[in-house]
Formats: sequence, structure tokens, C-alpha cells
Amino acid sequence: MSDRFHKRLWRNAVTMTTANVPSPTLRVVEGLRECPCCGLFQTLPRLQRGQVAYCRRCDAQLARRSNTPPIAAPAAFCLASLALYLALFFTELLTINVHGRVNTVTILTGPIELGREGFGEIGLIVGLTTLIMPGIAIALMGAILIGASRRQMPDWAPRLMSWYDRLREWSMIEVYILGVFVAYTKLVDLAIVDLRAGIFLIAALMITQAATDSTLDVERIWLNRDIRDEIEDNQGRILPVEHITATDESMPPIQHMLSCHACGLVMAFDQEVPREEDMGDCPRCHQILKRRKSNSLINASALLLAGVVCYIPANLFPIMTYTKMGQANTSTIIHGVIELWNSDLIPLALLVLFASITVPVLKIVSLAFMVFSTWRKQKRGLKLMTKLYRLVDLIGRWSMIDVFMISILVAIVHFNFLANVVADPGVVFFTIVVIVTIFAVHSFDPRSMWDAAGENGPVTIPDEAKQNSDPGGISNGDSSFSPHDMEPERA
Ligand SMILES: [Zn+2]
Ligand SMILES: [Zn+2]
Repeated sequence: MSDRFHKRLWRNAVTMTTANVPSPTLRVVEGLRECPCCGLFQTLPRLQRGQVAYCRRCDAQLARRSNTPPIAAPAAFCLASLALYLALFFTELLTINVHGRVNTVTILTGPIELGREGFGEIGLIVGLTTLIMPGIAIALMGAILIGASRRQMPDWAPRLMSWYDRLREWSMIEVYILGVFVAYTKLVDLAIVDLRAGIFLIAALMITQAATDSTLDVERIWLNRDIRDEIEDNQGRILPVEHITATDESMPPIQHMLSCHACGLVMAFDQEVPREEDMGDCPRCHQILKRRKSNSLINASALLLAGVVCYIPANLFPIMTYTKMGQANTSTIIHGVIELWNSDLIPLALLVLFASITVPVLKIVSLAFMVFSTWRKQKRGLKLMTKLYRLVDLIGRWSMIDVFMISILVAIVHFNFLANVVADPGVVFFTIVVIVTIFAVHSFDPRSMWDAAGENGPVTIPDEAKQNSDPGGISNGDSSFSPHDMEPERA
């Protein structure tokens, strides 16, 4: 007999003996959304095509309804991505001709060559971000769309959606192509360089992947998914799932609510939800329910510290050695920028300066400031810091340009005495900085800044909000809605 059946019997027995105590339930709050950046719960009307809903407090995007068919459009782009991705394995990216000696580079050569030079871990990261992750992202998206196109979305589809969310940003095709261009500019004065078909395939893949993401309408896909009738909570109790709407009179207090980090469904428990405790599985997507990310401050601080420690050798040690006519030239990150500048490639110099120096520093400094202001329970500048958080989350991966550039140069410039490029230890430290700061940003929960400042305190529905008189929060350009926003009472 199943464990679940026993638990149900036990629950019924308890209900019979304590008839006056209401049995615990889980209530799904329809039409309510928690901002993932500031933690404000706000009502969300049904969006029309092309409309986007923004948080009224921190301007984060809460929901988006695409203009295109929800399955057909991303499926078409996903198929195109698959064709381009497969073709990439059979094409060359660049050929270089030094006095009649020709070398070619494919997407595989960089990681292999880095491995041969003793930088296997960097080769692995380059291979993961330019080869494996793009393939996984395309495969996951294909499977998600197959699952979503069924009349009833199967259980595995939401799991894949959550994996897609986590892994998508590690597919760095768009960063790689910039790395190729920086490498190209460094090669043109050395030899005759030919851009081959692979480069155009990568550029096209970058576009089709972006188009897949922008046409994917997650909101509409979730409408296809049934919500379970009961779930098991963190104490092993089976809770029946009820549905209420955000405008109901008997709305539970905010401390009883949480939203699923994967699908955004808002749920209310009968008791206060602890900050970081596992509350059971989401009745829609089966991901673990948690109010906030676990140990957000400690994890982010530790990773940040690791980033700061590695940042110093990343800048002091050379990242590569370029030997030309027997003359070795070691190059640090800042050297690379100065060289581009001196070669009159000013836009590219600025790009590398931004990606390799500004972005890591901005990430480290702003995240340190966010962690500090959470400790200090600071109330000022919360909106600005939340916007900064979204910015560093978005641009963090662009720092990989230099790493990709080196992977291409070491793969192609092998002409013994004439010209040779080898990677140096600086690139290892630099890659660690990029990776750990990306993880640091992920492990930090920006809502904790608002929590610490007391901005996510107990809530009531304001009377005027119930009468649709408080526009804002939702925007689609010209037409505006009147959402009933739930604003926290100031403590
Ligand atoms: Zn917000
Ligand atoms: Zn969920």
C-alpha cells in the first residue's frame, strides 16, 4: 500500500479527532505574482498579445505575452538552430596563411589545443560554453516544445523548463563570436586571414537562439499544464490544493505566501512560511518550493571573496604569450586593450575594456555593496541596486570574450619560429573570476535587500486598489491597466 495512502488515512484520522481544527490546505492564488527581484506581490491581469507586465516597485519584467504562435514560432527557430548547430561541426571558422603555410580552426580546435597545452580546465569551459551547452539548450527547447504541444503537458516538461532556465546563459555563442572578431583583428597583421562559413553559421545560430527565446511564451505554455489536486508538504502531510483569486476578501497574509521560483505560481499556506525552508513540491511544476534562496548572503559573500582573490593574479599575470619571429611578447588583460587601442581599433579596444575590466569590477563592487547594504538593512537606493543586480546578471557572461579570443589564437597560431601563441596562467585566474562571480550573482537573492529593509512586511489590500483606481505596474506601451496592487504596509 502506498506511503501516500497511509498519510491520507492518517490525515483523515487526525481530522476526525480534531474536528474543530481546520485541516491544512494549500491555496493557489490566481492572478497574483511575486516580483522575483524585489518580492512585491502584485495582481496581474490577463495580458493581451505583445503586452509586457513590469513590477511597479522595481521595474523588473514580471510577464510577457508574445505576438507569435506560442509553439510554432519557437519550434521553427529551434529547428533552424539545430540545423545550424549540426552544420557547425562540419565547417571551418577561420583559415590563416603565413607565407604559404595554412592553418584552419574549427569550433573544436580551441578546446582541444588548450587541453594539449596543459590548460585542460579552460579548454573544458570553452568547450562547454560554445559546444555542449548550445547543443543542450537546443535539445531541451525541442523537448519542451514537444511536451508543451501535447493536450496535457507531461511531468517531464516543467523539469526541462527549469533546466533550460538554468543552463541557457551558459550557452555563449554570442560572446564567442565577439571573441572570434577580437582574435581576427590580432591576426590580420600577421597573415592572410580568411573568414570561413562557420563564422556565418555561428552568427546565424546566435540570431535563431535569441529568436527562440523571444518567441517562447512561457505564460501560455503554463496554461497547458494542470495543477495537482494535492501535494505533500515539508512535514510529509498531504495538503489538498484549493484555488482562490487575488481579489478575494479572505486573502491570507503575505507571510503565508511564496511563489515558485521556476513557474511563478503563487501559493498560500496555513502557517507562516519560513524564509529558506523546503516547503514541498510545486503543484504545477514539481520544483521544490522555497520562499527565498538558501544562504543567499553567505554563499554570495564567499563566492565574491573567491572572485576578489583571483582578480588580482588575473590582472597581474600574463594571459598569453605571442611569439613573432622568435621574439616573445607576453600580454596581460590591460595590455591587450592597449594594443587594440594603439592599432587604431578603438571601438574593439573599448569593447574588450568593458568586457574584461569594467564588467568584472562592476560585478564585484556592486554585489559587495548589495551584500553590505543587506547586512546594514539599508533602505536607501533599493530600486537602483535592484536594477544594478539585473544589469550585472545580464552582462556577466560577456567577460568571456578574452578567454574565447585566446582559445582561437592558441588553436590557429602554430608556426614555430614565425609566429606562435600560447596561453598563460593569467587566463586561468581570469576564467575563475568570471565563473565564480556569475555564481555569486546567482546565489544572491535580491529580494533579501528589500526584506532586510522591512519593505516586504505584512500586507493588506488597499481599499482604493480593490476599486481599480491604481494604475501602474503593468504596461504595454500605450494602453494601461488598473491592477489591484498589494502594497506592503510599512513596518
Ligand atoms: Zn519588483
Ligand atoms: Zn512551479
